[in-house]
Amino acid sequence: MGQTLIRNGTVVSLDPDIGEVEGADILIEDGEIVEIDRGLTASNADVIDASNHIVLPGFVDSHIHLAQTQVRGIAGDWSLMGDYFDDMLGNITGLYQPEDMYLGGLFGALEKLYTGTTTALDWSYPNSLEHAERAVDALQDTGLRAVYTYGPPGDDAAKWWFDSDVDLPEQQIREFYAEKIRDDDLLSLALGLRGPDFCTDETARSDLELARELDAVATIHMGAACWPSSVYGDDYQGFGAIEDMLGPDVNVAHANHFSQEDIDHAVEQGVSFSSTPEVEMQMGHGIPVTGKVLEAGGRPTWGVDVCSDISGDMGSQMRIGLQVQRMFENQEILENGEEVTGVGLTARDTLEMATIEGARALNMEDEIGSLTPGKRADIITVRTDDFTTAPCHSPIQTVVFQSDPSHIDTVLVDGEPVKRDGELLNPIVEEEFDRFVESGKRLIDEAGITLK
Ligand SMILES: [Zn+2]
Repeated sequence: MGQTLIRNGTVVSLDPDIGEVEGADILIEDGEIVEIDRGLTASNADVIDASNHIVLPGFVDSHIHLAQTQVRGIAGDWSLMGDYFDDMLGNITGLYQPEDMYLGGLFGALEKLYTGTTTALDWSYPNSLEHAERAVDALQDTGLRAVYTYGPPGDDAAKWWFDSDVDLPEQQIREFYAEKIRDDDLLSLALGLRGPDFCTDETARSDLELARELDAVATIHMGAACWPSSVYGDDYQGFGAIEDMLGPDVNVAHANHFSQEDIDHAVEQGVSFSSTPEVEMQMGHGIPVTGKVLEAGGRPTWGVDVCSDISGDMGSQMRIGLQVQRMFENQEILENGEEVTGVGLTARDTLEMATIEGARALNMEDEIGSLTPGKRADIITVRTDDFTTAPCHSPIQTVVFQSDPSHIDTVLVDGEPVKRDGELLNPIVEEEFDRFVESGKRLIDEAGITLK
């Protein structure tokens, strides 16, 4: 692959030993960051001029369902319990053919790269082994670094999501892992688990045991909305049957209604949390878990979640997640009759949650998440010479508050450029565009849903 030199950028490394360096160069060799310093030279390197750019690690989206991309724009007025379960999990996902998985995943992954996300956990619900294979083909065709999450099929919500006693298809997953994932350096496997609020205790435990045996992250949807009490009338049970199995390989998406005590316990065990603030606030999941995780001494990560609802851009989640948490903290002070004289969570905090903390949640912090020699070169650059970002007085604030995907100029994954001069390099965008649009139309037609 050879050498690449990113020259003369404002480096925001998010590595505490390196910090921010103006006018810095980054030398990349065979996809690895080799050196970060001023005045580096490399005679045969591909040179990327980063003058007037901020250079930072690519975003890590710790929770998204990429396959929903071709039905984007249908869920913007939906709630979780009023529409999403019935129309998405109880209808549309059952209509997916393997090609729909491919096309949704493909354009979802391309959107990720275009908007500066270089790693995503793609929470998938393959209706067959072939569906899973095509979903992974899509990831591979884009060059996104991804954690493919093999979850329960999307063809029968009653079977898989309502007190389910059906385990994930173990043999199928083992073969799939060996054939599609294991030997690809950009891919790793997670298992998409149902927590004890969706399945029997035995199923929750045995799925988690399988994930652990495969060295896969176990990522679980839990604690959103009033579920399960609205369905079963159960009392709050927290982590229930898996409470004694928690560890750093467990990731919980949402967790809005967990008690502080449960979050304390989970953080102590190294559990990571994916907060998807925009979708959660819209759909009635509850208050994002951010404050409880911080209180417990942990740090949450950000995810887009439902891309049939909102943009796949992580910058939005980074801002929304930060500002809503500040709102709650400020309100508490105001209600005590005091003035707000400072902020708690900072721009740097939310940027770290969108990068290194996401990497940690996916057990990839030694590989990605900061610009550190020895790590893989997943790097983005943000223009500071645009009239909507200039002048740049604080690179972190420019990235968090002023920039949007149109300012993301260059994106590298594993040292390979996938976006240069603001344009995706992959011609597959044009080649597959018509099939992608057709797939979305067919799914919505067949589902027979009425858009609000
Ligand atoms: Zn989700």
